[in-house]
Amino acid sequence: MALLDIRNLTARYGQITALRDASITVNAGEAVALLGANGAGKSTLMKTLMGFVSPSEGSIEFDGKPLAGVSTSSRARMGLGYSPEGRRVFPGMTVRENLEVAARDSRNAHMKVAEIFGIFPALEQKQAALGWQLSGGQQQMLAIGRALMTEPKLLLLDEPSLGLSPILTTEVLDRVRIIVSRGTAVLLAEQNVAKALSVCNRAYVLQVGRIVDEGPTDTLRDNPVIREAFLGG
Ligand code: ATP
Repeated sequence: MALLDIRNLTARYGQITALRDASITVNAGEAVALLGANGAGKSTLMKTLMGFVSPSEGSIEFDGKPLAGVSTSSRARMGLGYSPEGRRVFPGMTVRENLEVAARDSRNAHMKVAEIFGIFPALEQKQAALGWQLSGGQQQMLAIGRALMTEPKLLLLDEPSLGLSPILTTEVLDRVRIIVSRGTAVLLAEQNVAKALSVCNRAYVLQVGRIVDEGPTDTLRDNPVIREAFLGG
């Protein structure tokens, strides 16, 4: 049974259909990429999973349970972690405080923070710095760390490379593998297709709200259409 099972999902904003008949699965232990250009519908899919956008058609099951009518906070308690586009960290709190306030259980917050420092050593070095004092890459690491503090079974990462240099993009996206190896599945929405393909097992390609291709990342990398559209031919 898939950890996440999305079937025939359609989501609209008024007259605009942002997502059309999308079916996606993520299994436990997998890193799955959701690839597509600006406006393809990646963020809409993530927001629909968290309950910020209501689908007009289709169904979502997570961990064997339907999500229809389930509140965002209950979805988080069920094990959906979300790192939204745009690195939302608390600018006036230290790195450690940013992590601690996101803890699912304050009794083991200290241990979870240590785990997250293990994944992102740069955060440990900056643990007393305030959110606003961090570089873009460090803020992104902190945003992902905050989502991990909720101990998710599936982490939704929306465009973590946005606004980062190629080196920092690599530094952040390489952590996806570590996160998965520690037991959290990942659904990664990315425009940086080459890098996303290199850190994920499978991928779905979205174009104007529709899934136009899917498969193991090794196969997709050699697909002429993907090469032409995303990898520079
Ligand atoms: P980006 O990387 O730019 O966020 P995306 O692939 O995540 O791209 P979405 O943000 O999901 O794409 O947008 C999908 C479509 O829905 C686009 O046409 C976008 O303009 C539209 N859209 C997104 N949010 C809204 C909204 N709140 N109201 C109306 N239309 C929206």
